[in-house]
Parts: sequence; structure tokens; C-alpha cells
Amino acid sequence: MRILIVEDEKKIASFLFRGLKEEHYAVDVAEDAAQGLYLADINTYDLIVLDIMLPDREGISVCRDLRNKKVNALILMLTARSSVNDKVNALDAGADDYLTKPFAFEEFLARVRALLRREHREKGNILKIDDLELDQVSHKVKRAGKEIVLTNKEFSLLQYLLIHQEQIVTRTMISEHVWNESFDSFTNVIDVHINYLRSKIDKEQPCPLIHTVRGAGYILKISDDNKKEILPKKRLAS
Ligand code: CA
Repeated sequence: MRILIVEDEKKIASFLFRGLKEEHYAVDVAEDAAQGLYLADINTYDLIVLDIMLPDREGISVCRDLRNKKVNALILMLTARSSVNDKVNALDAGADDYLTKPFAFEEFLARVRALLRREHREKGNILKIDDLELDQVSHKVKRAGKEIVLTNKEFSLLQYLLIHQEQIVTRTMISEHVWNESFDSFTNVIDVHINYLRSKIDKEQPCPLIHTVRGAGYILKISDDNKKEILPKKRLAS
């Protein structure tokens, strides 16, 4: 889950940033509308937390702009005033919810969870490939009906691979979406976690799902080799 915070008040931005990171979300912060729009353009976010009063533009018009640009992320607006007009304008501009300042972090977090849950209900909670299933709400993972216990990082990594299944996922993509970091020395950490994940989901399985693409990254897919292995058995049976 990657979240963008667009907020010029440093205290609020850093308090949200730290809190969300502790909850294992990947988080970026933009200090004004221009930076926010830029980040939303180059990255894909699950949720954008958008302040209504930004130094360079009104948050409402930023929200409208995001929707016009077909940014699908959930948008939670932070309003300083509790005026009905602000709330109505925020929702009309395409925001999914709003929160009036000041707020407690617990309330903010509950809103974030509720929004993400609602989104998953609409899209379906379960991500699947072959006999591997990941429930995005209960956080349960199963392979061939057997439950697999993953750490938070392994879960996020597998979730990311499942969302992008059948596509090559580079280490840069993984570091930016799962770790919220983007420096070169990080690739070792990713390889180590991929190996942990492999040992949990692919070990002793006839069809490994995580494949290394040399010089590029990883891909989660049902490999062609596995499809071939099935064919001779069918021929024998007939
Ligand atoms: Ca502000």
C-alpha cells in the first residue's frame, strides 16, 4: 500500500508520515500542490491524503485535477474548517472522504483503513495465482489450501507481485513500492526477502511461481515449464 501525503504544515506531515510508516505503509510527502501532482503523475498510489489549504493552490482544485487526469487513488481530504461547504466541495471534486483538523492519529488511521477496505471490497479481497491465495483484508495467505505465515514485509512483497502478476517487476519498482526507498545498495535486501518468500511459498511445490528474470527482476507466473510437465501425464492417461 503506497500513500501520498500532500500537506504544507511540516508538523502534521511528519506526524502522519511517521505514523503511517509504523503501520507498514509506504509513504511519500509533498509540500505543495505542484509537487503532489508531480508525484501522483510518476507513481501509482493507493491513497492520497490531500490538505485543502496549500501554499500554491486550493486542495479542492488539485483534487479535481487528479480526477481529470484519471488518477484512481482514493483521496482523503484534510479540511481546516468544519464548514459544510468545504466538505460538499471536497466530495463533489472527487474526494472519497474528508477529515476535519485537528484530528487524532487513531481517527485518521481508522479512516484510512476503512477507505482501503471499501476499495478492496469493490475490487475483491482475494488476490490469486494458480493455487496461491492472498486475502488483503484478513492478511491470510494459502498455497494449495495450506496456510502460510508471512512477515509484514513478505506479505507486502507478495501482494505487490500478485497485483503485477505475469509482468516483470524490477528491483527499483519493489524498493519504491514495498520499501519506500530507492537506493542501489538496497537490491540485496530485496533478493534476501524474495528468497525468504520463495522458501515459504515455492519450496517443495511442483510448480514454483516466483521466477528470476536475469538482469531485469522478478516475475510471478505459472511457468511454461510447468505447463509442459502437465502434458506428458495427460498423454499417458489417454
Ligand atoms: Ca495547509
